[in-house]
Amino acid sequence: METKLLGISKQDIEQAAAILHEGGLVAIPTETVYGLGADGLNAEAVRRIFEAKGRPQDNPLILHIPDASWLERCCEEVPPLARTLAERFWPGPLTMILKRRAVVPDVTTGGLDTVGMRCPAHPVTRAIIAQADVPVAAPSANLSGRPSCTTAADVQEDMNGKIDAIVDGGPCSVGVESTILDLTVTPPRLLRPGGLPLETLQSVCGRIEVDKAVTQLLCPGEQPKAPGMKYRHYAPKAPVTVVTGDAARAAEYIAAHIAPSGGVLCFDEFAERFSAYPVETLGGVCDREEQARRVFDALRAFDGTAVTEIWAQCPDGRGLGLAVANRLQKAAGFHVIDVGEEAET
Ligand code: AMP
Ligand code: MG
Repeated sequence: METKLLGISKQDIEQAAAILHEGGLVAIPTETVYGLGADGLNAEAVRRIFEAKGRPQDNPLILHIPDASWLERCCEEVPPLARTLAERFWPGPLTMILKRRAVVPDVTTGGLDTVGMRCPAHPVTRAIIAQADVPVAAPSANLSGRPSCTTAADVQEDMNGKIDAIVDGGPCSVGVESTILDLTVTPPRLLRPGGLPLETLQSVCGRIEVDKAVTQLLCPGEQPKAPGMKYRHYAPKAPVTVVTGDAARAAEYIAAHIAPSGGVLCFDEFAERFSAYPVETLGGVCDREEQARRVFDALRAFDGTAVTEIWAQCPDGRGLGLAVANRLQKAAGFHVIDVGEEAET
């Protein structure tokens, strides 16, 4: 199959919408990461997403809608808190888990009686969905297991020849996936940290429980609430070790343990120190927004090198740091070494 590369003109938007309407696959830009979209109410079309990505069937997809008024089309119940959150944070990087309506096929929800709903902030994608007039099921546009795509070129690398079209809407401004909040339970539960910080949600919702799968490797047989959280994810080819704790101490630890064939993913401030190795930088120690934008491309970049191991520095869990740390730790299969904080003087 030839994969068309589309831009953001009116004709391109119309073409992308027509492909979706007819049951085809289109990679779409969002503010978080690129999504691989299909008509979320068309079981046959959704099945093709799983095939193109090599995604396990039990890993449900998020439905993307152009505004909150579409919630009723897909959800049985929309609690007042969901409306408040939609008003506050949509369009934006928040996915809400709600009770699904029967019109949403099993293949979209992985057989669950709930569905993930999101309104993305990219105007081109909202225009495409509105024009297609169907909620668009879209997981991240990477091959299953690989780091997510934050540019159209990343999507081409993974999906060329497998899907009908890619819409190039420029690089993603957030860079990590949406925050997933389950609103079918009380208190609401954070299933995946993402582009909307937990603290921001807490300021509106009060208490939020954090699912264990966010910070830990689950025991065999343990089921996370977001089925996708149990899979190995975001992984470059070489094994990754994450070093948490004080950044200067982490750099020392890495310098003492790295093999000559190793690579380093570090904060900008430490790039020089590791200049003898292939280095990718995450952004400044305190610049969590930049770290979120860069983390996936940095992980992908190592696949173009011959490194046999990757050592990564890691932000703490404040703000977007929780999502960046989660992606790094998942890329490492939770192989994490904590060097502790610098003692106060
Ligand atoms: P991706 O689209 O690649 O970001 O993956 C979507 C994530 O959303 C996966 O981790 C899914 O397990 C999660 N997800 C989607 N729908 C639901 C749902 N109804 N309940 C819980 N998690 C969900
Ligand atoms: Mg994904």
